[in-house]
Amino acid sequence: MIIRKSPSEIEIMREAGRVTARTLRLVGEAVRPGVSTAELDEVAEAVISEEGAQPAFKGYHGFPATICASLNSEVVHGIPTRRRRLREGDVLSVDVGAIVDGYYGDSAMTFAVGKISDETRRLLDVTAECLVAAIAKCFEDMRLSDISHAVQTVAEGAGFSVVREYVGHGIGREMHEEPQIPNFGPAGKGPALKPGMVFAIEPMINAGGHAVRSLEDGWTVVTQDGSISAHFEHTVAIRENGPTILTVE
Ligand code: MG
Ligand code: MG
Repeated sequence: MIIRKSPSEIEIMREAGRVTARTLRLVGEAVRPGVSTAELDEVAEAVISEEGAQPAFKGYHGFPATICASLNSEVVHGIPTRRRRLREGDVLSVDVGAIVDGYYGDSAMTFAVGKISDETRRLLDVTAECLVAAIAKCFEDMRLSDISHAVQTVAEGAGFSVVREYVGHGIGREMHEEPQIPNFGPAGKGPALKPGMVFAIEPMINAGGHAVRSLEDGWTVVTQDGSISAHFEHTVAIRENGPTILTVE
């Protein structure tokens, strides 16, 4: 069952989204050559704490940090560490969530570290474009897989591939609620979208093939072929007049 939120619940989620967005922006401003992913995690933890919110990921199924920090061929769920210092030309996907009054916000973005190659820039731009195309389907009576199909169309149209094993999700009082929202599939399938549904939509797009594997740390997911991966995510509410992005300041 997809839990629909009342307007007052969506207002609380807007606050959780604002904290999440501010955290992601300030982490992004700290991204530069030489910084470690553990230092970026500390930035995120400080912002969320200063806001009086709670980090959504820390302790979630035992995850040890506030952000997921996934570098280059890492797709998602990278663990921040002092051993990983960013280098010019890297890309870093940062995923973060915050809890306000029991409601979750969830957002992600891939940041360029200094100057990156034209092809890597294109991957980041296309992945962001996938998210925009998906949000553009978030109107009442569109079908769930219209979101999925929009992502796949943009990604594959640009010559990139869509990660299959990890998907977007409903969000509210739990970080992961029904439904699962794959980033691929035919249009026009699944439940009709209704006001009050809130989704974390999160295309994960690889420059090479779609296959991924997990590292021995039990968390980090990397591309099978070592190609670069990008990840953009927003928490989005469906309302009578269309989508409202909650993870904005
Ligand atoms: Mg996320
Ligand atoms: Mg998510």
